[in-house]
Amino acid sequence: MRSFRVLSKEEGSVCLSVSWLEVPERRKEGSTVERRIVPLVLSSFHLLTARQPQAGHFQGKMAKSGAKECWGYAAYDRSGLMKPFRFMRRPCRPEDICFQIKFCGICHTDLHQIKDDWKEIPASYPMVPGHEVVGIVCEVGGAVRNFKPGDRIGVGCISNSCGQCDHCRKSMEQYCERKMIWTYNDKDIYIDGSPTYGGYSTLMVIPERYALRIPEGLPLDAAAPLLCAGITVYSPMKHYDMERGGKSFGVIGLGGLGFMAAKFARALGMRITVVSTSPGKEQEARTSLHADNFVVSTDPRQMKAAEKTLDFIIDTVAAEHSMDQYLPLLKTNGKIILVGIPAKPLECSALSLHSARRCVGGSLIGGIRETQEMLDFCARHHIFCKIERIPISYVNEAMVRLAKSDVKYRFVIDVAASTPPEFRPIQ
Ligand SMILES: [Zn+2]
Ligand SMILES: [Zn+2]
Repeated sequence: MRSFRVLSKEEGSVCLSVSWLEVPERRKEGSTVERRIVPLVLSSFHLLTARQPQAGHFQGKMAKSGAKECWGYAAYDRSGLMKPFRFMRRPCRPEDICFQIKFCGICHTDLHQIKDDWKEIPASYPMVPGHEVVGIVCEVGGAVRNFKPGDRIGVGCISNSCGQCDHCRKSMEQYCERKMIWTYNDKDIYIDGSPTYGGYSTLMVIPERYALRIPEGLPLDAAAPLLCAGITVYSPMKHYDMERGGKSFGVIGLGGLGFMAAKFARALGMRITVVSTSPGKEQEARTSLHADNFVVSTDPRQMKAAEKTLDFIIDTVAAEHSMDQYLPLLKTNGKIILVGIPAKPLECSALSLHSARRCVGGSLIGGIRETQEMLDFCARHHIFCKIERIPISYVNEAMVRLAKSDVKYRFVIDVAASTPPEFRPIQ
């Protein structure tokens, strides 16, 4: 209850206004660099204050306006330390779905954002992280067509977008020409401008268009990481036709993303090489992930032996690293696609690219339609993430362990079971 006393004070919250920097996709044959990542830039700040609900108002009760009281964990400053936080979710509009959160995965992005590591996406506190959110629908608005109370639902990184632009019309909402709204650490300019709060919390309200159906064949907890880690690697594998013609595929880094990439590659019939700094991961890579080859990136002899053996590489590393270390692994015309987001720019010598007409690309999560396709693919092939389930009170320890890659392969918060009884939503 010590943390509860902190929460019963009035808290201030900073909201950010962010806008897209447009970077056109370039796909010319023989070009050396392709970019799909569209960075965000801060354009203005607004300071809002939010009065916290008083003790005794809880258990998911609704205010007169229809707004819902919600409880979760938030980071309050750049230390990243998370403490309990109480806030309101907006009332369900006709197109909205309200759901009780059961589980939420912990993504490496969460760790970067609570510590304000990225200048392109500045942190707004208090920040409730979490964009691998699964739960059970408890209320739907009058215009909702495809969900009903009791359905299994998921929300990934996207909670809204303009819905009108060319990219949105093609369900590539992540590249929305106006602005995609992040599930947390953002503000929803299309609704009421209020801050977005993520899945380390008891309830969420989402427009139906951005809701995903979790197929019955998938365990709800282990499906949560598919909503970011899964789609982040699935989307470039599809976009670049990696599965075509028995290509050899490499994945750099064996965390949550690397694990999912190896699983997809297996299901797509590709030859898999796992490249990792940790020799201790070899056995698991070869046995449970069925990797054909394992290369320790800190061993120059192993790296030399693996030169020019791969058609595609997905680079999942979120820490600083040199591209020049990995480019020689690619065959002529090989492509390396970045999906991690290191805080500092990566080194890449032009000659490493020119010498074998190699390409470096990027890819940002995936659109809603593609994410649903990925979930259905996972259900058909029994693909889900290996997870370590934790109570919500363990999030700070989990972040310390995540920073040391001490997790196999994703922490998933058991939100519903670890919410104190006085804060549980009414069923
Ligand atoms: Zn993520
Ligand atoms: Zn759009």
